[in-house]
Amino acid sequence: MASDTLRFVRKYWPLFLEFTITLVAQRIKAFTHRFTYHLLPTCKNVVVLGGSFSGAFLARRLGESLPSGYKVILIEKNSHFNFCFNFPRYSVVQGHEQNAFIPYDGLASGTPAGIFEIIRDTATGIRDEEVELASGKRIPFAYLAVATGALQPPPARLLSSEKNEACAELKALQDRIIGGKKIGIIGGGAVGVQLAGDIKSFYPDKHVVLIHSRDQLLPSFGVRLHKYVVDKLQDLGVELMLGERPAIPSTGDGTGTDLVFPDGRKETFDVIVPCIGQIPNSSILDGFSPSSISPQTRRILVESTLQLRNGEDPKSRELHNVFALGDVAETDGYRMARSGAMQAEVVRGNIIALINDKELEKYSPIAAEGGLKLSLGKDEYVMYVQDPDGTDFLIPGKSSKVDLEVEKGWKMFGAKFKKTSV
Ligand SMILES: Cc1cc2nc3c(=O)[nH]c(=O)nc-3n(C[C@H](O)[C@H](O)[C@H](O)COP(=O)(O)OP(=O)(O)OC[C@H]3O[C@@H](n4cnc5c(N)ncnc54)[C@H](O)[C@@H]3O)c2cc1C
Repeated sequence: MASDTLRFVRKYWPLFLEFTITLVAQRIKAFTHRFTYHLLPTCKNVVVLGGSFSGAFLARRLGESLPSGYKVILIEKNSHFNFCFNFPRYSVVQGHEQNAFIPYDGLASGTPAGIFEIIRDTATGIRDEEVELASGKRIPFAYLAVATGALQPPPARLLSSEKNEACAELKALQDRIIGGKKIGIIGGGAVGVQLAGDIKSFYPDKHVVLIHSRDQLLPSFGVRLHKYVVDKLQDLGVELMLGERPAIPSTGDGTGTDLVFPDGRKETFDVIVPCIGQIPNSSILDGFSPSSISPQTRRILVESTLQLRNGEDPKSRELHNVFALGDVAETDGYRMARSGAMQAEVVRGNIIALINDKELEKYSPIAAEGGLKLSLGKDEYVMYVQDPDGTDFLIPGKSSKVDLEVEKGWKMFGAKFKKTSV
């Protein structure tokens, strides 16, 4: 059988070619938009809630394409873009944590003057055609996109919205890991796997145990990836406990030291890091359109056009001008940044289609959106893509950069990388 790399290139080169042509066309249109857009004295607002992968991409693309008479307002509670891909690594390795926080200043670069506004605030509610902010301000909107994502315990996400305090959270975890001898990681998803591999490869003397409730690590992906990752973690010396669901210490933040297993067995660790659970940030809709929140998942229900879906609730209203995308939305897509960016392009196109009274586009995910690049210790990574028919592509590689090439993230959001590591 041909190698995975060859099969992958054969299958996906037409898509990459199409994608590259689309990107070039977008750049040309964004350039000409600078000369055709005029900021009018009264502008209607297109408001985007949440400035992470989905919302930031959407806001920037709206800034490159909204017609005269409209402007985009991005509302984000964090002082900096949280480049969470690198949080697990930076919670183990010292001296790079500042680089995971990217200034928002560059996001509007290349857009016409006045079309793009960022408000640093927390959205607390939505009323008819208005967003309420924690500061007491109210922002009227003609169109609204909710991209408020999901909460996860550190180190997947951090609690603070200020860069310095968020860095302190990562440093505190680094110190706990350095100070501990036996470290328990709970949860064998991407974050737990990455964290376990990093701790053991940067600090080989530590006893690292990865505990996972199922028999398969990374259960959203194929069994082949599980087998590959198990071999790699065992080579590094990580102890695996699969099919085990211990009670998490009552503090919930891993500061407790004992794990009690269902058979009554107790194991003591110096540090416990839970890497489980994702809670969608959908409460912003609680008072506005509660029937648009899935009772099962708490994600926001959307049509294939990514407009909010009206539930059965008699109080539900016409929501054609409100969209949801990314990790907070119940779509057919993956909960990955790539899917968020693809959905952002659909939402952008549909807002402009509504403005121009044109037909709306439907979001239909492609398998490449769900591709994973997972670091396995300091020197290696694996890329994995699974097609809907079950065919998969597993491509291992060698990592050379301890900071996981964070400068690429800065470039992606128009920021000039200033290395502040030691
Ligand atoms: C460790 C890690 C590694 C990952 N690696 C990859 C990868 O390699 N490739 C990939 O494609 N995906 C990866 N992912 C998944 C990816 O990060 C998520 O799918 C992506 O972040 C979802 O983006 P989002 O914008 O929808 O939501 P989020 O990233 O959750 O962002 C939501 C934003 O909304 C803001 N917000 C929330 N509520 C409010 C409010 N009320 N007012 C104002 N602002 C608000 C938040 O501050 C945040 O900035 C990884 C995730 C983690 C945790």
